[in-house]
Formats: sequence, structure tokens, C-alpha cells
Amino acid sequence: MSKPAASARTSAELPVRTMLPSLAWPAIPSASVALTLEIYDLLLEIETWPAADIRAHQLRQLAVILRFARDTIPFYRDRLEGLAGLDQGSLSPEGFRSVPILTRGELQASSEELECKNVPQQDGVVSKFTTSGSTGMPVTVAWTARANAFVAATNMRYYLSHGADPKGRVAALRAVPRNPDGTSTEPRGNSWLGALNCGPEAAFDASLPVSQQVEWLKGEDPDYLVTYPTNARAVAQYCLARGITFGRLRKVFTFGEALVDGVREAVAAAWGVPVADKYSTREVGTVALECLRGDAYHVQAEDIYVEVLDKAGEPVAPGETGRVVLTPLHNAAMPLIRYEIGDHAEVAARCSCGSAMPALKRIMGRTRNMLTLPNGDKLWPRFNSDDLNAVAPIRQFQLVQTSLQEIRVTLVPEREVTSDEEDALRTMICDRLGTDFELPISYVEEIPRSKGGKYEDFKSEIGG
Ligand SMILES: [Zn+2]
Repeated sequence: MSKPAASARTSAELPVRTMLPSLAWPAIPSASVALTLEIYDLLLEIETWPAADIRAHQLRQLAVILRFARDTIPFYRDRLEGLAGLDQGSLSPEGFRSVPILTRGELQASSEELECKNVPQQDGVVSKFTTSGSTGMPVTVAWTARANAFVAATNMRYYLSHGADPKGRVAALRAVPRNPDGTSTEPRGNSWLGALNCGPEAAFDASLPVSQQVEWLKGEDPDYLVTYPTNARAVAQYCLARGITFGRLRKVFTFGEALVDGVREAVAAAWGVPVADKYSTREVGTVALECLRGDAYHVQAEDIYVEVLDKAGEPVAPGETGRVVLTPLHNAAMPLIRYEIGDHAEVAARCSCGSAMPALKRIMGRTRNMLTLPNGDKLWPRFNSDDLNAVAPIRQFQLVQTSLQEIRVTLVPEREVTSDEEDALRTMICDRLGTDFELPISYVEEIPRSKGGKYEDFKSEIGG
């Protein structure tokens, strides 16, 4: 992997929005951009180290975040008290496995208790957001500016390791706050690489029908398309059927859900370009990046400690699949320690590119199928758990389209949901989907995974 051209980092080339406003010359990047660039440079160096060195330093940082959590957050005091080697600089992976797993349910129920109330000033400003994560169960998480800078740096690695040209035009089809025409209300910016001088990035709401997404893409004529795997597949299939191509398109970057079957094939057939996938979630940041030259995903070991465990809690061997348990290494605002995200992954011995970074062969996480509208058009359904929760206290949800007119709604509620709340839920869902569907609601205590460990918060029985 090569560093970006030096010219991209000179002051004259830094995008205006990342520079300090009071400085015309010489240009100096804002503190957050400077930090991201610094981390990115370190990532490029660390990935050339031998595996044993990466592991040893990772354990050192793991001990730092564990001690911090134990000493500042009462929730973790008992869990981490007396952990072997924690204060002696000899924490081991085996010893770490004695720490209890943090479940999604615990995170959901205890997010207040998991927050650090006295984040050190040097970790930067704390921001909070709610996410539905991998299992359709909403949680609120808090992040420091430093932890965000690590995510921005691993994102730079994602795009640049796949040869993306920072000056390229990027079109994103994703969940965005939208204008009436479907475009994002966020200003068209040059921020897609966070810190480098980039080509224009534009975003359009992926929850609008595929036909509208494609019309918008024609106007954008992007070099790179960024979207969810199921949406990429549906957009590619729509274009293939109509012979629609984008002359400049070089690559499709996917994120946000498991890379389902047929995405690469559809994208290759429609446009003749490859897919580059990222395994990330809002709760923990970037977990692993698909390798350009090899056959696996590289774990972002500088920023996250990843365990893949069998039923007994022991690490699975390469070639085997297990539960993914994650410990981000740099978020002091809300340390998540041994967090079971709800995904499954197959472990690889090593990526075939020769990288020493830990590797995953396959990730089986959340997927969302496409909704079919009465006119046959398709869309990536958008019903954020935030939106559901604004109406009624919902712990988990699943929607299943059973016909062109009906979507069955299954909910795990915190308490009994009133009929007024049910009506409000129906209105909100129809609103989000842009079409009136019949929405029978039923209640259960738990929504099971489908075969293979996937959790599907939107399923279709009529072909998604
Ligand atoms: Zn590789």
C-alpha cells in the first residue's frame, strides 16, 4: 500500500473546510484533521510489523482501556477487579477471556452506566448517537473526538488501500436527511476522505425507489459509488436490465450490512467494476476491511481487539465460524469491553496478501432485503429504530413483506404498546416507505436469527 501523494498533504491542497478559519497562510489543518492524518501515517507503518509485535502492543493498549474503565466506570469495577496481569503489564488473551461478555441487551439497558462521566480533556469532545446496530435493537453510544479520529483514519485506509483517487467524484446512496428531491440536506462536500483534498461527494437517500436512485446517479456520473450491499445489488440489477452504465465508474464501496451473495456478480455484470467491502458498525467503528490483493478482511487491530468465539467461549480455529466479540481500544467516553455485537464471522489464518494483521474470511451480520413496491420498483427500506422508538418503546423489530400490499410487523416491546401507538407506528412506517401498506402487528419475546446467524430486520417473501 502506498501513501497518498505528498502533494495531497501540502497546505495548498488541504480542503478549505479542514483548515483553521483564521489562517490564510500558511494553511494549518484543524486539530481533528491533523490527528486523523497522524493516525493514518501510523497505521501504514504498523501494518508492516510482524504479527507478534502488533499483538504485544495491542495488548498494552487493551490494558490501558481496561484500567481506565475499571477506575472510572462503576459498571466495570467488579468485572475487571483482580484481572490477572492488568496492573503488571502482563495481560494475556487467555486472562482477558475471563472478563464477562457484554451483551447487546446489557448495553441497551445500561448505556447510561457504561458512560464515563469524566472523560479526560485530551480525549476531546464527546458526541452521542443512537444506532440500531446489527440486531435491530437500538442503543445509545458516546464517542470521543479521539476515537472518531481513529475511525476517520481507518476509513482513509479503506478507500486509499483500494486505490481510490481522492480527487474522484463520489456518489453515496445511504440513509440521509433528505430534501424533497431525495438529495441529502447535508452540504455537498469534499469530506469523503475526512482529511484529504477530495473530489465532490454527494449523497442521495437510499430508501427512495431504485429507479429514482438511478436517475440521480446518471446526473452525478460518479467515479465511486458508496452504498449498502443489498442496495448495490438492486441498483446494479436494475441497470443491467436496462443497459444503464456509468462511464466513469471505477469501484463500488459497500458498508453497513453483511455482503450478501450476488452483490459482486451483479455489480460486475452491470458495470464491469469490483466491489470493496467494509465491516463496521456505529457502536464500535471500523472492525475489518476487505483486502484489495488478498482473500480476506484485515482486522483493524490498531483500534479494535476482535475475538471470534465458539459456544464454550474459546477462540475458533481458522476456517471455523464463531460469535464476534469486540473491544474498541480508544473510546474513553463509553468503553465497550468484550461486546457481543450479534454477528458471526469465519476466521482466516492469514490474508493471502501476506499481511500480518489478524484476518477474517467472511462476516455474517445484519442484512436488509429490498422492499418491492406495488408497481414493481424496489427500495432499501428505511425505518430506523430511532424512528420506531420515538413512537413506542421497542426493544427489537422485524418487518416481513408478504405481498405487494402487506408487511407483517413483529415487535419486542419494553411494555404493552397502546392502540394509539400502534396507529402511530403504522403511519410512521408507511411514511418512511412512501407507500401505504397493510401492517398487521404482532408481539414476541425474542426475534430469532435466520439460518447462518444472520439477523434480518427486513425480510421479503416475494423476492427481495
Ligand atoms: Zn490482505
